[in-house]
Amino acid sequence: MIGGFGPNLDGLGRHESVSLRVAVDTPQHSALAEPLVYRSERRIAAGTLVQVPLGRRAVVGIVWPGAPNGGSIAFEVRAVRAVLDSMPPLPAGWCALVEFAAAYYQRSIGELALSVLPPELRRLDAAQLGKRVARLDQRLARDGTAGAAASPQLTADQAAALDRLDLATPQPWLLHGVTGSGKTEVYLRAVERVLEAGRQALLLVPEINLTPQLEARVAERFAGRCIVSLHSGLTPAQRLRHWLAAHLGCADIVLGTRLAVFTPLPRLGLIVVDEEHDPSYKQQEGARYSARDLAVWRGRSESVPVLLGSATPSLESWRRAGEGRYTKLVLPVRIGRGALPEVRLVDMGREPRAKGIQSALSRPLQDAIAERCARGEQSLVFLNRRGYAPVLHCAECGWKSGCAHCSAWRVFHKRERALACHHCGRTQPVPRACPDCGNQDIAAIGRGTERLEEQLALALPGARVGRIDADTTRGKGALRTQLDAVHAGEIDVLVGTQMVAKGHDFRRITLVAAVNPDSALFSADFRAPERLFALLMQAAGRAGRDAERAAASQMWVQTWHPQHALYAALCKHDYAAFAESLLEERGAAQLPPFAHLALLRAEARSLDVARGFLQAAADAATASGAVSIYPPVPMGVQKVADVERAQMLVESGSRPALQRFLAGWMPALHALRAAHKGVVRWAVDVDPLTI
Ligand code: ADP
Ligand code: ZN
Ligand code: ZN
Repeated sequence: MIGGFGPNLDGLGRHESVSLRVAVDTPQHSALAEPLVYRSERRIAAGTLVQVPLGRRAVVGIVWPGAPNGGSIAFEVRAVRAVLDSMPPLPAGWCALVEFAAAYYQRSIGELALSVLPPELRRLDAAQLGKRVARLDQRLARDGTAGAAASPQLTADQAAALDRLDLATPQPWLLHGVTGSGKTEVYLRAVERVLEAGRQALLLVPEINLTPQLEARVAERFAGRCIVSLHSGLTPAQRLRHWLAAHLGCADIVLGTRLAVFTPLPRLGLIVVDEEHDPSYKQQEGARYSARDLAVWRGRSESVPVLLGSATPSLESWRRAGEGRYTKLVLPVRIGRGALPEVRLVDMGREPRAKGIQSALSRPLQDAIAERCARGEQSLVFLNRRGYAPVLHCAECGWKSGCAHCSAWRVFHKRERALACHHCGRTQPVPRACPDCGNQDIAAIGRGTERLEEQLALALPGARVGRIDADTTRGKGALRTQLDAVHAGEIDVLVGTQMVAKGHDFRRITLVAAVNPDSALFSADFRAPERLFALLMQAAGRAGRDAERAAASQMWVQTWHPQHALYAALCKHDYAAFAESLLEERGAAQLPPFAHLALLRAEARSLDVARGFLQAAADAATASGAVSIYPPVPMGVQKVADVERAQMLVESGSRPALQRFLAGWMPALHALRAAHKGVVRWAVDVDPLTI
């Protein structure tokens, strides 16, 4: 089946040549936003990979749709060096998606296009690529014999949702279902229909940690189908192989993280975005795209339905569903009528002052965990701060373990005997005595997961206490092993960060506790409460997933603010009420989703330089009544790795107005750079998630 993708050679005489647009990876700041012009002795189809000279280098580029602008070209047009035609050209729909994303997120087409392709494509020549394509055919030969797992009888709610889900209508659907309500089953049935129609399905998940689980379920259901995954944890060779399988149309199902939204799929029939509210869908560097938003755009552009699922949808999606732009599907109850955990608030203001473990875990919570241990049930204790203690402190002279390079403390990691900065990554050995006054008695202040684990083990003699966070899961396969231990019942109490709060289908956990979640209530970031609520709902969703034990399952929250509306809504598991009240606040304050934001960020050796750049950028903006520019401010963590950071907010009630403004502003920003040499980096973040 391979071969026959060769370039179209028609119509050119011997010494004629055509000029083409080629997207190459020019850095954003070179301001070469458009594809470059090259000439070729033969016509080459748009979407074909080519090798072209760029400066003194030879780079891989993509022949871009559209003719080069007419008019005289002052410099000599260079020739295409080689055509990598052992693979079919990237489809027009793919080019359209990349072009839209580049324009929307204010990056160059070439930079974005090349950054979302498998890196191996840039290394291989035409012959090597041809070999990979040929080998693919053998490796993916289907073993259509294996029997697929039977699908369960649908619940009435699932059946109703699937009845309404009309896959022939290319529109977005918002599947709102509490945790454990069987959303995944709805995805699988939708995928089944799409495959039966001979189409491909794209399944997006927020985190690489969650891909193996879904992959296992998908593989079980669709045995005999070609299923590939795409995420940053693959080796370059695997990533190329999986991507080629998708692009050549061999793969039926592609399962991946945000970068997979750019997978070329010739037979695409459905896009599923699981946990659509999750911040991981937003890329935080380079082109800061939202894979969820691009999935919706892609669905419309390729006339394909998009199924967004969540227990706590983003306010953006919730509002669109409210306006009827997305169709809402609801799964209101857990499978097996299992109850959602009862939420218990512990008012920390009324707890007696205590030392040791009891400063972390109130007496009632500690007793409840001990009770679960005695019954052979598991508990999950959730604390979103890793390390042993966030800071070391000398009571004699007031010294604290600050990072010399960041405006942040270095975190004490006991097992590694290190002070580590979680911003710049620098570490140092733990000093034996205070570096300033020599006092031998320096104390760890506060608590991270490592200390909580230690204290829990002391407080619950005989209990098997384990911990899962970024520190315990560095090694390859470490997370898998640790999760398996939890599933196998080898752990009684699991301590962890948000890494364990999301997605995992723990069957034996009947108690989940959030030890200290209050700080998000008072964050400067207006989205912090929305994120906290989603996280707590997710965490609560880890308890009582086994319907038989669900009735006794509990979610404990220790708080100094038990009256807060967020906790009141949590107690009722009432996302809808919470979302409506947040939407009201956002509307009154003209914040997203009622307004549209972009951030201009600048990093420099001094704050004045960063601010100066932002101020000059504001001065260079063309006044527009529809867009407001706010004064530059230092970022929350102002200094990271010796670089000072500031940002400036741009806001508009109209998305098109904001887009027009940004597009007009970019050339001025590129030009400013020359006059602000002290600026190390600057970037525009469109629809920023963290402020
Ligand atoms: P969600 O994705 O909404 O959190 P899941 O799809 O993971 O929920 O479903 C929770 C559990 O219920 C899973 O173990 C799943 O296998 C099971 N389940 C889902 N649908 C059904 C059904 N119709 N009948 C029986 N069990 C089901
Ligand atoms: Zn000291
Ligand atoms: Zn640092």
